Amino acid sequence: MKAVARTPRRPAPKKPSHPSLKDPVGVYCRVRPLSGPDQEGCIEVINETTVQIHPPDRYRIFRNGEYRETQYSFKEVFGTLVAQKELFDVVAKPLVEDLIHGKNGLLFTYGVTGSGKTHTMTGSPGDGGLLPRCLDMIFNSIGPFQAKRFVFKLDDKNGVDVQCEVDALLERQKRDAMPVPKIPSGKRQIDPEFADMINVQDHCKVEEVDEDNVYSVFVSYIEIYNNYIYDLLEEAPFEPIKPKWNNCNTPVRNGDFIPPQSKMLREDQNHNMYVTGCTEVEVKSTEEAFEVFWRGQKKRRIAHTQLNRESSRSHGVFIIKLAQAPLDADGDNVLQEKEQITLSQLSLVDLAGSERTNRTKAEGNRLREAGNINQSLMTLRTCIEVLRENQMYGTNKMVPYRDSKLTHLFKNYFDGEGKVRMIVCVNPKAEDYEESLQVMRFAEMTQEVEVARPVDRPLCGLTPGRRFRNQAFREELSQKLELRGGPKNGETEEQSVTEMFLQNFPPLPSCELLDVNDDQTLPRLIEVLEKRHKTRQMLLKEFGKNVLAFKTALQEFDSSVVSKENYIQGKLSEKEKTIAGQKMELERLEKKIKTLEYKIEILEKTTTIYEDDKRNLQQELESKSQKLQRQASDKRRLEARLQGVVAETAMKWEKECERRVAAKQLEMQNKLWVKDEKLKQLKAIVTEPKIEKPERPSRERDREKPVQRSVSPSPVPSAPPVRPRHRRSRSAGERWVDHKPPSNLPTETVMQPHVPHAITVAAASEKALAKCDKYMLTHQELASDGEIETKLIKGDVFKTRGGGQAVQFTEIETLKQESPTGRKRRSSPNPEPPEDAADSECTDVETRCSVALEMRAGSALGPGYQHHAQPKRRKP
Ligand code: ADP
Ligand code: MG
Repeated sequence: MKAVARTPRRPAPKKPSHPSLKDPVGVYCRVRPLSGPDQEGCIEVINETTVQIHPPDRYRIFRNGEYRETQYSFKEVFGTLVAQKELFDVVAKPLVEDLIHGKNGLLFTYGVTGSGKTHTMTGSPGDGGLLPRCLDMIFNSIGPFQAKRFVFKLDDKNGVDVQCEVDALLERQKRDAMPVPKIPSGKRQIDPEFADMINVQDHCKVEEVDEDNVYSVFVSYIEIYNNYIYDLLEEAPFEPIKPKWNNCNTPVRNGDFIPPQSKMLREDQNHNMYVTGCTEVEVKSTEEAFEVFWRGQKKRRIAHTQLNRESSRSHGVFIIKLAQAPLDADGDNVLQEKEQITLSQLSLVDLAGSERTNRTKAEGNRLREAGNINQSLMTLRTCIEVLRENQMYGTNKMVPYRDSKLTHLFKNYFDGEGKVRMIVCVNPKAEDYEESLQVMRFAEMTQEVEVARPVDRPLCGLTPGRRFRNQAFREELSQKLELRGGPKNGETEEQSVTEMFLQNFPPLPSCELLDVNDDQTLPRLIEVLEKRHKTRQMLLKEFGKNVLAFKTALQEFDSSVVSKENYIQGKLSEKEKTIAGQKMELERLEKKIKTLEYKIEILEKTTTIYEDDKRNLQQELESKSQKLQRQASDKRRLEARLQGVVAETAMKWEKECERRVAAKQLEMQNKLWVKDEKLKQLKAIVTEPKIEKPERPSRERDREKPVQRSVSPSPVPSAPPVRPRHRRSRSAGERWVDHKPPSNLPTETVMQPHVPHAITVAAASEKALAKCDKYMLTHQELASDGEIETKLIKGDVFKTRGGGQAVQFTEIETLKQESPTGRKRRSSPNPEPPEDAADSECTDVETRCSVALEMRAGSALGPGYQHHAQPKRRKP
């Protein structure tokens, strides 16, 4: 039976099933050690994810000593001491796990020539690289579950077919019968140089391998050189070689190495790229797979030397395909259903050196080829750039995959789904500085490209554990057969039956009749034959019994199987019921979770709103309190300033008052002096008109004794020497001359001086003086404040020796009328129409006038001085 199955390996890239699930390209960096201890380096590993690159010394000279270090970050950075195993565990292991779970992967090394790409991918003897380790892990994982050779058959359109084991066996026999090409197998053919490489002895395996599947591994190895694809596993043709042109336009002569024909790239129905007519070898062990790889590697080397190619300019692509299909319900054979086959592939690519300059100074063809190789890496860079731009900025630029074979082959991965990982290899030596910078830049950019995450393949729907149950059944059956005398372990059924027969039958005697008279041989033969017949009968009986027993055993087994099946069925339906219940419960819980999530979302939103509010309010509060504090401090400052101002003003005013008082005093003294003078003159006029004028004392002298003069009744120095002849008692009947010059104005003062028994005169009169012993002159003048000041100048009257009268002035009494509020009227709370000063004085004497009775020191009111009215003060 043959089912032609072309598996849908992954959904068409145009419609990814999970468009949102994408992973960035994993970029790792490996720094190889320097060749010698005194070699100048320009790259340091900073930490697990960062490398730093600095310009070597000679660049510093070129750039005026400018020294700029640059750091680049990757998913992980592997330093010089990192072992191949460690690198494999981190970078390649997940890809192998994906491969076994039916997902695609691409792993490539990128870097300049000599940076360790091949060392990383292939490794060296005793230190296998990623490729042998991947193979080892694959076979460690699927080893016991591998399908027989040719059960899976790859077709020429990148699909896979499945056939039953019998067909596979027939095909095997057919192929074995063919003389060539022979599929080599076994460890003995491995190049001893690299036998060590596959001896990784890691025993590393994938944890979760579907044991109910059968697996087959196919490998192919191609080389891309000068934008041509060559199949490195293609067998050489047998026909004698005819001269023809190889790809490098050089004629090929008889006996020469036959250059391989370049291959075409095609896209299969699932939009995967594949090399048409490429040899894909089914391999059953790590050794076999690596041997195939090594065969291709040798061919590659030969091609390089024979065709004068530069090996560093070619890309090596090793493709591992894994076909897997589930076992049928019995767990015995592969399920012959095309939809159930999964084909996944892991491509391991050792890229050409990324250097832009041609280090080997190639000429002619080789230069052109080198240019082409460069072109393919350039295209790779462009593709990655455009992809990144499209993904980052949502543009829809066409990615130029078709511009080179390499990128066209990679299209699967970048445009479709799968894991893409790149190992950037760098040589820290100073000579590679500029190239390494380019490499780092490209690598950093590559990290920003995302590739759709592969989806898990659907389950086949058959009960798991089929392989295990089938094995258990076989073991039980063989045990039972053994118990009933069946074939023991290790021996075939035919062998044991023959032996049993040989044991049960007596040996036949010789039946050769040599003598005519021999009458013993035949009877003996007859006897033996009869015995044998009897034994046969017995054996037949036994056989019949055994058959019966076997039948019953079989029936028993059948019934027990049926009952077991029933039991299992019952259990299964029970379990199904429980599962259904649980599913319902799950759905309910999911719904609840959704509602709760919705609620949480709303609550979170509300919380955010409240928090925002709170923040705003807090901010407001803070600003307000700050404002308040500012105001309080302003207030305090103002208060302090005001206090200062007040104190200052008070002091100023005090000083001003003092100054004014002093000025007033001075003025008053001067006036007094003037008055004195006048009075003296007056006296001279009154008493002795012929007395010569007194000398005017100096101001200073006058100022020295103002009080004395006015207070003590000492004689006026300028006055003639008079001695009071007689001093009349003051207590009784003193007579006054009240001299009121007619020029005086009526002052309307309430308190008017009133002198009883006085002779009032308008001008000085000798007659009046002769009759009296006291004299008083009422003198008016305009004070500095504009008010009329009335002065009562008093003195004693003496008789002079010449029989005349003299007055000695003893005191001056000043009467002054002034406004209590100063000259300007204050506005009252009830605004009244303004009146002129005279009017207001008449109407409101009490409030606005007060009589200031200013008495000179030592002066007393005269006895006849009476108050006409007491000044009343209005209560405040
Ligand atoms: P590429 O393939 O990039 O041109 P190779 O892998 O051929 O470079 O490496 C060049 C040389 O450097 C080889 O001799 C290799 O053994 C050595 N080498 C590279 N990487 C390492 C490493 N990580 N540790 C030790 N030696 C290395
Ligand atoms: Mg290399």
